[in-house]
Parts: sequence; structure tokens; C-alpha cells
Amino acid sequence: MSKDYEYYKRERQQEWRANLRKQLKTKERTKIERISMPEAEPTVRNQNFEEVNKGLTEEQAIIEAQRCIDCPDPTCIEGCPVEINIPKFVKNIERKDFKSAAEALKETNSFPAVCGRVCPQEEQCEQTCFYSQKLNKDPVAIGHLERFVADWERNSATTEHTEIPKSNSGRVGIIGSGPAGLTAAGEIAKKGYKVTVFETWHDIGGVLKYGIPPFRLPNQVIDSEIENLKKLNVRFETDTIVGKTVTIEDLKKEGYKAFFVGSGAGLPKFMNIPGENSVGVYSANEFLTRVNLMNAKSPDYDTPVLKGSNIAVIGGGDTAMDAVRTAKRIGAERAMIVYRRSFEQMPARDEEVKHAEEEGIEFLNLRNPVSYEADENGRVSKMYVKKMELGEEDSSGRRRPKPIPDSEYAIPVDAAVVSIGLSPNPIFIQSMPELDVSERQTIKANQDTLETNIPGIFAGGDIVRGGATVILAMGDARKAASGIEQYLENT
Ligand code: FAD
Ligand code: SF4
Repeated sequence: MSKDYEYYKRERQQEWRANLRKQLKTKERTKIERISMPEAEPTVRNQNFEEVNKGLTEEQAIIEAQRCIDCPDPTCIEGCPVEINIPKFVKNIERKDFKSAAEALKETNSFPAVCGRVCPQEEQCEQTCFYSQKLNKDPVAIGHLERFVADWERNSATTEHTEIPKSNSGRVGIIGSGPAGLTAAGEIAKKGYKVTVFETWHDIGGVLKYGIPPFRLPNQVIDSEIENLKKLNVRFETDTIVGKTVTIEDLKKEGYKAFFVGSGAGLPKFMNIPGENSVGVYSANEFLTRVNLMNAKSPDYDTPVLKGSNIAVIGGGDTAMDAVRTAKRIGAERAMIVYRRSFEQMPARDEEVKHAEEEGIEFLNLRNPVSYEADENGRVSKMYVKKMELGEEDSSGRRRPKPIPDSEYAIPVDAAVVSIGLSPNPIFIQSMPELDVSERQTIKANQDTLETNIPGIFAGGDIVRGGATVILAMGDARKAASGIEQYLENT
């Protein structure tokens, strides 16, 4: 792009920004109420897997965009882990230039349709928005606007086909097809390298597919991103476990010069209490994977996840909310959250808790399971819980739960789902004993390049951070892609 063109573009942008400012004064903008996201009816949506949030209409998006006052020092950007130029994309919506808005988003975010749906904006950009910080008002609905633009682009006939760059010599192997692996694949392919993504499962997408249910993130959103990667000549090899069915050494012999490890944190933690190995006690990952990838929601399936009507999910995070709302949808009459603290300390997003409550989920807070009882077939039939009370704050700043003596009682359950955290996937790590790992069994990587102690092997996302978020996994992958490019140029 020539300097003259850049200058012209900047001038034009300054001009339209000034025009927009003239159209609505700041005071008028701050008087506009935040537009609520249209949602499916709770009693209808808890019977199906269709998306709960319906997305803003064009008119709603433009009104919401008008609320943004285009701050000279946009604090919202500081709150975004990948520093999206938020006022730039939002002001393009106000101008009805959705294509430029999409371009602004994609400068730093590879999959805005995913992030617009699953990012905890209330703890990030929306928390640092001028409205939340200075006006004590609802922030600009940055996440809803991000989703609007990304959906517009996906559904629009004007979507441009990605240009395939000139081919560079060097093959790159990606281990894992979650948000980290997919982002790295796209970024590296755009630099002209041949990329193959290896995935253990038969389906691509990592947690985006097997964990987060379609009522929060529909499969077609992810599939459309995967199709875009295929257009960039990214290859996918599913049913392949790197470190088991194929090794890094095998791949090097096939010509792979560098690797990105995005193998995630999918190893479930259990409570190790009596009866936990009864039939019908699942980890949240197993439960969600069996429903999302294997159709185990149907009672006609050979091994359905739920036989009966009472299901308890232990935990208070997003994964627990996903599991319990899924349980309701597959027919549980009594779908319960059992959480040892109270609503205030719950780590799940407020929106997920609100949606769960609306859908008829029962919250048994300040309760902690102590054992399970099984029937004569070894199938779980009761869960014993202790009542808890909150004591002093612990190192996380949350009040520590303490058991109340002699408060134990039984809850009848037909299934239980343990959702108390995840550890890094061990297979790849165990296959490379020379790889530097932390005590928590996460891979250690250089903070700037994300290269590990083994030259040419880079890593990012949950395998480096432990359980984190989609946007952080994507941010790591972009950084690693630059590191890999530099590495390949220098070898
Ligand atoms: P993953 O998404 O875990 O992908 C890793 C992939 O690597 C998997 O597909 C795995 O099968 C594959 N793999 C592992 N080992 C190998 C191997 N040896 N060979 C080949 N393939 C391998 N975050 C949010 O920001 N918002 C949310 O709303 C949210 N909700 C969540 C809900 C659930 C149910 C869960 C479990 C997590 C949620 N998270 C959420 C967290 C988020 O999904 C993760 O932080 C993110 O997916 C991490 O991305 P990743 O690419 O590092 O790993
Ligand atoms: Fe707009 Fe809020 Fe960012 Fe200011 S801080 S530019 S009002 S989104």
C-alpha cells in the first residue's frame, strides 16, 4: 500500500469521525440505553440446542454503536487481551460500513464470531469502557457488536475469498485443533508455509466443538472458520495423536521443520471421594464430549449419558453451567448445580448463571459432595453432601468454604458430573521427556516468541497457561506464529 494512499485513508477517516461527532453530541450518546441482546424464550430453549442469544439486528447494532463516544484515550482497548481497535470497529458500524468494521476486528482477532460469543467481555473491554469506569452506566456492548459484525461478514455475499500467499518452503505441524491450533494454522498459512493440523478427535475445533455446547456457540460458526482455513490450504489430519500414533521425529522425517503445540487442558480433576467411580459419575469433559460429539443425548443411543431424571453437576464455572444446561436439554427433570461457595464467588460468567436460572436449573449452593452411593448394578443412586459456610478470604480473595458439622444429607441422583477443573493434556508432554514443563505440567515457553526449550517447537493456549480462555489461546497463537516465521527464516 502506498504512503499516499495511507495518507488519503487517514484524512478520510478523520473527516468521517468529525462528521459523526457532529451528528450526535456526547451528551446525547450517553443518554442512549444499552440495547439488550434478543434471547430465545427460556421454556422453549431449554428443550433444544439452538443458540440462546439471537444477535442484534442491523438497526440495534447501529444504535448501540452510537453510544460509543470514541474516547481520545480508549480504555476499552487496554481491557482487550489482543488489543482490538474497539472504537475503530464500533464507529464503522455506526457509519454502516460493516466491511471496514470486520477488517478492523481481524487486524488482531482471527475468529471474532467465536470471541463475540464466548469472551468474558464483562471482565475485559466492557469493564474498562468509559461508561463502566466514569459514568457508572452499562458499558458499550462491545461483545454483542463484535458478534454482529462477524456474523454479518459470514452471512454476507460480499465476503472476499482469502488470497493464498506465495508458497514458502517449510512445513509446519500444529498439534491440536482448538482455538490456539486453528489460529496458529491460519496465521502461519497466511505467511505462505504449508500447514497440517493434527487432532486426536474425529472432529476439529477442540473445546469449541466438544466442550462449549451449540446453544452458546453453534457448530456452523466454527465450521465456517475451518472452511476458511482449508481455502488457505491448511490440511487436517484427525484421529491422530501426536506422541502416540505419530511422533515429532516421524514428522520431521516427513519434512516438518517447526511445530506449534496447542494440545490444551483436557485432563479432568476428580474429588477422590468414596463412590466416585460408580457408573453414571462423569467428568464434565466426558459428559459434554459424549453429548456434543457422539450423540449420547438420545435415550435410543447405546450408552446414553442420562438414564433417569435427576442429575447433579458439581462446580460453579462456565463448564459446570454448560454441563447442567445440557443436562436439562437432554431431559433431566431436576438438573442441579452443587457448589461449595455462594453466587457471589461463582467463577462462571454472570450471563451463564442468569441463563441457567431462567432455564430452571436448581442451585444447591454452599453444599459439597462427600460420597456417592450406587445401586445393585453399580449405578450411582445417591450423592451425600455436606452444608458449608463461608469463612476468611483465601489466597484467591474469595471467602473459604468450611463444612458445617453434622449437616450431611443425601440427594437422589441418576447421574453426577464433576466439573472442578482441568489439567494439561499429558500425552504429548510424556512423549517428549526433554521438554521443559512446570510443576503443574504445563509447557514452559518463552514469553515473547512462545518457543519452548526445544528449538523449533512452540506452544501456547491452555497447554502453557493451564485452563484459561479462548482469546488468550488465540493471542498466544498469533505470537507463536510470528516466532515460527522468524525461526523458519533463520534456519
Ligand atoms: P483446546 O481447545 O483444549 O484444544 C486442544 C486440542 O488439542 C483438543 O482438540 C485435543 O483433542 C487436541 N490434542 C490434545 N493432545 C493432542 C495430541 N497429542 N495430538 C493431537 N491432538 C491433541 N473460554 C472462554 O473464553 N469462554 C468460555 O465461555 C469458555 N467456556 C468453556 C466451556 C467449557 C466446557 C470448557 C471445557 C472450557 C471453556 N473455556 C471458555 C476455556 C476455553 O475453551 C479454553 O481456554 C480454550 O479452548 C483453550 O484453547 P486451546 O486451543 O489451548 O485448547
Ligand atoms: Fe467507546 Fe467505551 Fe471504548 Fe470509549 S471506552 S471508545 S466509549 S467502547
